[in-house]
Amino acid sequence: MEERIRQLQHEASPLECAPEQRRKWTEAVTSYAGDWLDRLPERKAFEEEGDGTGLLELPITEQGTGMDRLLELIDREVNRPGLNPASGGHMGYIPGGGLYASALGDFLAAVTNRYAGVFFSSPGAVRMENQCLRWLCDLIGYPEGAGGNLTSGGSVANLIALVAARDHAGLQAGDFPRAVIYTTRQVHHCALKAIRFAGLGECTVREVPMDARFRMRPDALRRQVADDRDEGLRPLMIFASAGTTDLGAVDPLEALAGVADDQGLWFHVDAAYGGAFLLTDYGREAMRGIASADSVIIDPHKGLFLPYGSGALLVRDSRTLYESQHMSASYMRDTLKKTDELSPADLSPELSRHFRGLRLWLPLQLLGTAPFRAALEEKLLLARWFHREIGGWQEMETGPEPQLSVSLFRWTPEGLDPDEANRRLVDRLHADGRVFLSSTRMEGSVWLRMAVLHYRTHHDTLRRTLEILQETTRALKEEMVAEL
Ligand SMILES: *Cc1c(COP(=O)(O)O)cnc(C)c1O
Repeated sequence: MEERIRQLQHEASPLECAPEQRRKWTEAVTSYAGDWLDRLPERKAFEEEGDGTGLLELPITEQGTGMDRLLELIDREVNRPGLNPASGGHMGYIPGGGLYASALGDFLAAVTNRYAGVFFSSPGAVRMENQCLRWLCDLIGYPEGAGGNLTSGGSVANLIALVAARDHAGLQAGDFPRAVIYTTRQVHHCALKAIRFAGLGECTVREVPMDARFRMRPDALRRQVADDRDEGLRPLMIFASAGTTDLGAVDPLEALAGVADDQGLWFHVDAAYGGAFLLTDYGREAMRGIASADSVIIDPHKGLFLPYGSGALLVRDSRTLYESQHMSASYMRDTLKKTDELSPADLSPELSRHFRGLRLWLPLQLLGTAPFRAALEEKLLLARWFHREIGGWQEMETGPEPQLSVSLFRWTPEGLDPDEANRRLVDRLHADGRVFLSSTRMEGSVWLRMAVLHYRTHHDTLRRTLEILQETTRALKEEMVAEL
């Protein structure tokens, strides 16, 4: 047996990367990453060609393959086809970012593999996450006693918030069919998914009427809550948005907080996209009242430019979250050391998880908050500039004035079906790929969206976008007229 153990140890030895090997791999990876970043300006924002099937040519087998071959494969099959969220030309959906400092934080977190789930295991890692959460709470204007959890993204953050609201209300299965959640038609679809995951699929979800700028109307909400009570229903929560995905609409949070307060409703704000704008004066004004929310979500992988995998749930009273999420087990008994620090594992469904704090803490510490604020203010102005420019074009209709950094517009070529024209326009833009815009359907019509949020998107990116739009609509109109 001892001989066998020795032999197995030898066979497993490649898992412990020897220093020379480590140096070579690190050098190869950082050199690839550096080159990839240097060439980013030449790269498309969207690449229609390729679908990653080349990966299947290299099955996973008993023996390993060299790093160079693997990097070549990753480059060709993964880093080319599809959307390029690292590009400043990505202005579809809600753009992401990918701060290099954050990638280094991930690298360190993975190498040291600190266990950030419980304070006992890594007091420093947990304090670091809590420090990041406190910083986000300060951004919202939350009092002492607020807290939260760094999640993988906004969808999971919304889900945890819903479960906390459900538990706080003491809702039992038998109550679900009578419970009511108030939102608008503009709510992100992950909220509806989360409602189902939270077991609340039988609840009534009310789409409260909106004003002309697609914001929830507090008067209509108040009436609806009263009507629901009259009918014997049980109003549970308001699910508001601070920056809708379609067009960046910010619900009137202060007025909604008033309704939540007199009606005893949980007030949740989905600021996955909009939240980072709280760093700017304009954003703070637009989101006035957010500090009165019971829970808020913010996606650092959107407005704080982190790589994907970073969301945050913040609650005004961290005890409500703790009550809803914590649980203990006999094998966890050593971890129950007395401390004032809350542990992530007690505030979310996750136990073992990536040490997410470092990827947020490192860029904030290295760079300070000033460049973030400047970039976000730049985005707000860019969206307004673009909206004004394209609004001056003939045969172009614009949506409501951007409340944050999304501009909605649609091409209206004379004599052609506008929905068909806009569908073909967006297809043509995707095939071109130099910049990436996405489309949506609003009030029954197809619209294009220009969402600026990437820190690499600048004035020249938008000038180029306008040129591309001009070229593309001109060519497409000729074709479409010829087809008539
Ligand atoms: C992006 C987004 C979400 C979903 O967040 P993920 O991080 O993609 O899970 C939820 N709400 C809004 C308003 C969003 O923009």
